[in-house]
Amino acid sequence: MTTHVQVHHFPLFIDGQWQPATSGETFHVYNPATGEVVATVAKATADDVDRAVKAARKAFDETDWKAMKPKERARVLNAIAQAIAANAQELAYLEAISSGGTIRRISSIDILQTVDLFQTMANIVQEYPFSETLPIPPFPGPAHNFVWREPIGVCAAITPWNLPLMIASWKIAPALAAGNTIVVKPASYTPLSTLKLAEIISSFVPPGVINVVAGPGADVGEALVRHPQVDKVAFTGSTEVGRRIMALAAETVKNVTLELGGKSPNILLEDADLDLAVPGSLFGVFLHSGQLCESGTRLFVPDRLHDEVVERLVALTKTLQIGHPLDPATDVGPVISKRQKETVLSYIEAGKQEGATIVCGGHEVEVPGCEGGHFVAPTIFSNVTNDMKIAQEEIFGPVLSIIRYHDVEEAVTMANDTIYGLAAGVWTRDVNKAYAIAGRLQAGVVWINDWHMLRNDAPFGGYKQSGIGREMGKYSLDAYTQLKHVHTSMVPELGKRKWYQVLFSRLHTMMKK
Ligand code: NAD
Repeated sequence: MTTHVQVHHFPLFIDGQWQPATSGETFHVYNPATGEVVATVAKATADDVDRAVKAARKAFDETDWKAMKPKERARVLNAIAQAIAANAQELAYLEAISSGGTIRRISSIDILQTVDLFQTMANIVQEYPFSETLPIPPFPGPAHNFVWREPIGVCAAITPWNLPLMIASWKIAPALAAGNTIVVKPASYTPLSTLKLAEIISSFVPPGVINVVAGPGADVGEALVRHPQVDKVAFTGSTEVGRRIMALAAETVKNVTLELGGKSPNILLEDADLDLAVPGSLFGVFLHSGQLCESGTRLFVPDRLHDEVVERLVALTKTLQIGHPLDPATDVGPVISKRQKETVLSYIEAGKQEGATIVCGGHEVEVPGCEGGHFVAPTIFSNVTNDMKIAQEEIFGPVLSIIRYHDVEEAVTMANDTIYGLAAGVWTRDVNKAYAIAGRLQAGVVWINDWHMLRNDAPFGGYKQSGIGREMGKYSLDAYTQLKHVHTSMVPELGKRKWYQVLFSRLHTMMKK
């Protein structure tokens, strides 16, 4: 399928306006399905980061944005949701031509999830305890005490290329709901939908509340993390870059949340309904060509079911149609880049070298009409052991490792034997058994008889090296607010303030004179 796409041009979005980069430089965005240039984008430098942060600072310090009442803020969030829905077609198109995600998935999941996120935050912000009153303390004397939750200030959001619109929104929606301002740095492969989103949002907020600076992570991302006027950094990306961000943020002791990589275990129990578990496990691993942080990339299968499960998985995988993301018939699109394709193929080679068996795929794919594209066949390895490189490292491509187990104890131990802890899953007809296992899995989310089921009102984030903090729902408001304790004394008489006597031993006698 050849698309004769119009080449778009996007400047930076700073202080409520489209602005060129100070350097005047631009970079290309390519369609990973064809290799065609689909856009040129202004390439920010540290000077542009400084301009964007100062605009965000000014909007935070000098407008009444941060003091807006929750009800009014909910109105803004609902208006943004409506505007996203009104621009759904353009957003979905920009997302598909740059990320390689299928238009079928983006239009039906990503857009709806994003609209619902802003609406959900609109509801949550009205219930959120921005001010709580504590009971009168018994000691040392009566007082009125409040706990206030205040916005943190200028937030920096750094996002990856796999789900650009959703992941930027997971940061923007709670940041705005709590009254912060924000500067977003999208991944250079996929800045388009984030830039468009900023333009949409800017109609409803003061200039400077939302800004987007696109450009290389090592320059633009680092400048943002180091900037002394940035108060919080929210990062989604690889664990490797997450470690670097945490170290850089330490220089100015910034508040940091990190959503990082995964190697999520999917445990099939002996009593699983295979009619559900087989398609469910493939949905869990091959959606978006396996480029989802919480993909179920390690499938643990009991000895007794092993051969049947492998056979069924292979048969169903062979029905997947690989093609152009804009073709509604496409099930699996490309991986993001030539480099990513080579990385995935090198992991496939490593799996073979370590003795795993390819039962399906294992090679790149030529798609007619998409000759410059980067396609890898959905690949299944059997005979994988949990210590192999393909079972321990995040591949971020369409590769499933099947690992046999003898008893459930062994499966749970292997499932937890990873540096990651983002997601996990269990397939069984016995829900009590599932809860018992869920309680032992070291992961931020556990799906029972399903996969990829994120909710906008449920927390999402990782255990272990999959991250710090949680996004979505009221939990994301916790991450975008800081606590202030306000104490008002109810004891006006000096003589009754016995606690002052711990310093002034003579105060009592002096007052009697
Ligand atoms: P990446 O870590 O390479 O890049 C993420 C972002 O960080 C990009 O915008 C990049 O430009 C920027 N960046 C790179 N180096 C930087 C630096 N030194 N300082 C500041 N910013 C820098 O990740 P990616 O390849 O874009 O995305 C894939 C990774 O993201 C996978 O590891 C995946 O698991 C992870 N991911 C995690 C989640 C989650 O919610 N836990 C969601 C999606 C993706």
